[in-house]
Amino acid sequence: GPEVVFEGVVRAYGGVPALGPLDARLPAGAFVALVGASGAGKSTLLRMVNRLVEPDSGRVLIGGVPVADRPAAALRRSIGYVFQSIGLMPHMSVAENIRLPARVAGADRGVPAPDVPALLAAVELPADYAGRRPQALSGGEAQRVGVARALATGARLMLLDEPFGALDPVTRDAVGRRYRALHDRLGLTSLMVTHDMAEALLLADRILVLDRGRLVGEGAPADLLAGR
Ligand code: ADP
Ligand code: ADP
Repeated sequence: GPEVVFEGVVRAYGGVPALGPLDARLPAGAFVALVGASGAGKSTLLRMVNRLVEPDSGRVLIGGVPVADRPAAALRRSIGYVFQSIGLMPHMSVAENIRLPARVAGADRGVPAPDVPALLAAVELPADYAGRRPQALSGGEAQRVGVARALATGARLMLLDEPFGALDPVTRDAVGRRYRALHDRLGLTSLMVTHDMAEALLLADRILVLDRGRLVGEGAPADLLAGR
């Protein structure tokens, strides 16, 4: 996946500062965790990448290109988005759910039809899950379908907002490790929001610590554990 750079990004809501000024770099292919208490500005920073939130000043670059220079719809097609509530459509099968973002993007606009069996294999779900309804899945299986759906438009940059937070601790670790292996296998760049430092230490190459909108810590897990 591509490199992502935040240059002096600032955001307030209704005049109340929420984030920044903040500079950070996610190296190409890195798995970066964004850690901090509720309200620290994690989601605001994450959503600047796919322009669900626009900075008041500063800018975000993906692979050297400012996101503000790209139409939001095309930008979002190129970025996978995984969130806690997953949001699978209950009346659609797993395969239909996986195909949905690519279909919304428009097959007639040259977006290739997703290879559902390959995507299920990528998240280590059996091929015959394609015909199941979401309610027939466990929480961990549903979140893996969410990951497959996020990959379906060919995205190699992934945004994950508390992706495994609703799962019980044992499932959370297992799904997290599977996702980490997938990240490595596909060479993704991943930015994961979590309030759980243990999860960040387990999965990430690099951790950014946010406190009240400011970057207060940054480093590899070993550096943070050593207090460097
Ligand atoms: P986190 O993801 O770390 O919990 P957020 O980025 O969601 O933090 O929020 C940072 C701050 O901005 C919080 O004080 C939150 O209440 C505020 N905030 C976030 N989104 C909005 C919004 N749409 N309108 C008003 N305030 C918001
Ligand atoms: P919350 O943090 O409030 O629980 P979610 O993180 O679950 O909300 O979802 C944030 C919003 O982004 C939702 O309204 C969802 O429909 C929307 N969304 C989902 N996927 C994408 C995408 N690929 N690009 C842009 N927006 C998306």
